[in-house]
Amino acid sequence: MTAPLRAYVHVAEGIPSLKADGTQAGVWSPIASTLICGPTEAVLVDTPITFAQNDALADWIEAQLDSRGAGVLSPRLTYIYITHGHPDHWLGIGALQKRFPGLKAVATRGTVEQMKHDGRGDAYAQNWITRFPKQVDDVPAIAEALPETNQFFVDGNVCRAIPVGHTDGPDSTVLWVPSIKLVAGGDVLYGDVHQTLLAANTKALREEWIRALETVQALQPDIVVPAHKKVHELTGASHLENTKKYLEDAGAVIETGQAHDPATFQKIMTEKYPSRIGQSALFISSLFQKYA
Ligand SMILES: [Zn+2]
Repeated sequence: MTAPLRAYVHVAEGIPSLKADGTQAGVWSPIASTLICGPTEAVLVDTPITFAQNDALADWIEAQLDSRGAGVLSPRLTYIYITHGHPDHWLGIGALQKRFPGLKAVATRGTVEQMKHDGRGDAYAQNWITRFPKQVDDVPAIAEALPETNQFFVDGNVCRAIPVGHTDGPDSTVLWVPSIKLVAGGDVLYGDVHQTLLAANTKALREEWIRALETVQALQPDIVVPAHKKVHELTGASHLENTKKYLEDAGAVIETGQAHDPATFQKIMTEKYPSRIGQSALFISSLFQKYA
């Protein structure tokens, strides 16, 4: 039987991160998690990074699940779905599994491979333990791969993982919940936050990202949640077009050779997008561009 779903968005505010030498590296962009609830079951999409952020998220989830009135049974958090392999969207799996017994973390096969790549060994130690010392697990819990169908159910409603290819990283996906026309978009689309072009560092890769956005637009969603958004920013399908436009604008700056110097790229993009936050994203986007 299919029961109606409702959805909530939690945004963990930006937090400071460190460089390898222990000095400040700037503020990590805010991170959104989407909670989708039916009468007896619920799924969370993505987590923030640190123990403190994930404790606050767990408290918030409990409050949402319990907010149905006295005498009404609360839904149980049954799944966490992880949209992509970047650890800033899944390092909370272990903390949440402790708080919500039986909670199963799932992702597409491609995402699980990326999680193993980014979440283990030297790559993990250098990029994540160094940035957030004593605030993340030494060996973080990883999701398990969904079956070939790439779908699971919450109170009879299908939740479908849609692989969309390379966006701000490889093997990106969104979670599509057709019964409420909701897309939890991961890093495929952004809110009012500078997009990370670290891995979208060629024209061909930026074009692939634009095709991914068109794949999501073809679903005709009503609710579209970006994984990086300002705390109180509204969610909506407009994020798709805005993300595409930003890619075209940033691409034009890069392709005319104005992104070689990070300070110049930061200045131009800040003038074009004065309300977007996330200067460090602009800095690394500039550093990692490849020029033909
Ligand atoms: Zn991200």
